[in-house]
Amino acid sequence: MAYTQKELDEINAGLKTAQDAISWASDNLHPRVAKASSFGAEDAAIIHMMVGINPEFRFFTLDTGRLPQETYDIMDMVRKTYNVKIEVLFPDAAEVEEMVRTRGVNLFYDSVENRKLCCQVRKINPINKILKELDGWISGLRRDQTQVRSNARMLEMDEAHGIVKINPIIDWTWEDVWRYIRQHDIPYNSLLDRGYPSIGCQPCTRAVKPGEDIRAGRWWWEQGQHKECGLHIGQEEKVRNVRT
Ligand code: SF4
Repeated sequence: MAYTQKELDEINAGLKTAQDAISWASDNLHPRVAKASSFGAEDAAIIHMMVGINPEFRFFTLDTGRLPQETYDIMDMVRKTYNVKIEVLFPDAAEVEEMVRTRGVNLFYDSVENRKLCCQVRKINPINKILKELDGWISGLRRDQTQVRSNARMLEMDEAHGIVKINPIIDWTWEDVWRYIRQHDIPYNSLLDRGYPSIGCQPCTRAVKPGEDIRAGRWWWEQGQHKECGLHIGQEEKVRNVRT
């Protein structure tokens, strides 16, 4: 079912908690809704809530081919702990081959254009495919993560894909996330204990120093750029920033 942003805002007015948003997704969009997970701290909390609300919820992740071993480890741990299936999406092999043959295996360090191309091929293209089959997707966005994310709402129309995007913990702080993880003693990516508050592909993520921005470790060599792969950037920002 298609929604307008006005209709979603009316529903937003009645949603008080993250669990309210997840329950709404379960009641109104399941099974054509899925959680996109990169197995960061936010995902750990949301997955725990989702399984408690509807054990049949769908989960998907992107195996870009460049993930750290710790992410594969937590992926497997989540699968076994919650007894859930995780749909693992892969980039198109021919697209990756062509990109690597023409621009090199570490192309992302050479230019912003190359980095965007790599994110497009390894992340955006595969996720676009699955989003075409869904009516909604659940993200781990928090409003205070970056400027780009500051306007996000709990339920919003993902105009790029024509489906509902559910951001259950949009109002949570980093401290809220960790309070939830500790209260419920839930499994999380071991990189989080080693200074990686935001976890992505291995060659594009480094640990941050105390006091540094949470996303400072993502594509750290790019100065003055939004620390986004393009997945969470709305149409307005896309036009304004000419980012993918
Ligand atoms: Fe490629 Fe790095 Fe983007 Fe991963 S994060 S898809 S390795 S540019």
